[in-house]
Amino acid sequence: NMQRRATTTNKESSIKPCDPSKIVVCVRKRPLSKKEKLKNDPDAIKAMNNTVQVFEPKLKVDLTKYTEVHPFTFDVAFDETAKNQDVYNSCAKPLVQAFFDGSKVTCFAYGQTGAGKTHTMMGTPEEPGLYTLALRDIFEMKQRKEYAHLGVYISFFEIYGSKLFDLLNGKKRVECREDAKQRVRIIGLEERLCEDPEQVAQTIEEGGKCRSTGSTGANADSSRSHAILEITLKYMDTPTTSENSSSTESDPSSIYGKLSFIDLAGSERAADTTHSDRQTRMEGAEINKSLLALKECIRALGQNQYHTPFRGSKLTLVLKDSFISPDSRTVMIANVSPAASNCEHTLNTLRYADRVKELRKDSPSHRRSTASFASMDTNLTTSRTTEIMDQ
Ligand code: ADP
Ligand code: MG
Repeated sequence: NMQRRATTTNKESSIKPCDPSKIVVCVRKRPLSKKEKLKNDPDAIKAMNNTVQVFEPKLKVDLTKYTEVHPFTFDVAFDETAKNQDVYNSCAKPLVQAFFDGSKVTCFAYGQTGAGKTHTMMGTPEEPGLYTLALRDIFEMKQRKEYAHLGVYISFFEIYGSKLFDLLNGKKRVECREDAKQRVRIIGLEERLCEDPEQVAQTIEEGGKCRSTGSTGANADSSRSHAILEITLKYMDTPTTSENSSSTESDPSSIYGKLSFIDLAGSERAADTTHSDRQTRMEGAEINKSLLALKECIRALGQNQYHTPFRGSKLTLVLKDSFISPDSRTVMIANVSPAASNCEHTLNTLRYADRVKELRKDSPSHRRSTASFASMDTNLTTSRTTEIMDQ
């Protein structure tokens, strides 16, 4: 479907499934909302094939005449007509294959609050998101004889500030520690053995509800937390540490493959560091720290660096095993709003995504295009958010 549309709009470069390299960065533009349409907030983003253009209004009077155009190139750019299934087929399906090959793989949704991260990850009953689409494929794959010895486990938790909360256990506080072998483990986190897609659907729904309704702090707000859905394939013959067979505490040695979906905190929250409320300020600082650390870890992964700075934040520490695993893979989906009024945040998101892929080992043509944009970046007026995010 994506492929067909791409070839009809531009026959020179068609959308292919994301190349199976270690780091894939894509952008997804959501449709204008009813509210934006009512306010006559114009669409300022053009996404096509693998390019995104931002038409930044320079004068409020006439958008069509006074815009500054900012071009970006990514692996794939989904426009507002793309469905979760398109995003899944192109970006997440290859991760599921790698997961069955025994890899530790990760898929992030990055972007401003309201840009479509949760829509992409969780979706709706009418349009299931990547969680559900991946798990459908996972259960289909698991039917094969060669995978009969593996079990599918699900954990769902949230990182809020620097604290971890179990979304499958009423937001019970859990702790992450490194064991004697320096493996990171989350003590007390529920891991649910799921036998069929119905059980999975229930688990995801339960966790999702818990995220949006349960209270964590005084001003608990899901846009200020990272939600992590962890799907693990485990050898079933390993003895469990808990009496309850459907809920076992993590034993890292029994893990065959791991697939993590991360619905990140709203990227604009990283600028809350000057907010009048102290708690909001601290949360903003933690989000800022985690998004910077994340960018550095993914870049380190792409460059096959020996040292991965996963200690930079709770988020990256929790993902340590995926970052240091030699065959790990990462997909970043940068979600953006089309509205002209959100241009500044959209540009910040695209610059962040651009930096993530900037230094990865790639074809020379890819490096060239990134370099030309980097010089353009410096000519732009920097907002407070940009200064914080682009350290
Ligand atoms: P975020 O999680 O990034 O804060 P949401 O996923 O909650 O943003 O999206 C904000 C609103 O926009 C929601 O009402 C959601 O249903 C809608 N939305 C986001 N992306 C899409 C899309 N691709 N198609 C249709 N509606 C979308
Ligand atoms: Mg959300």
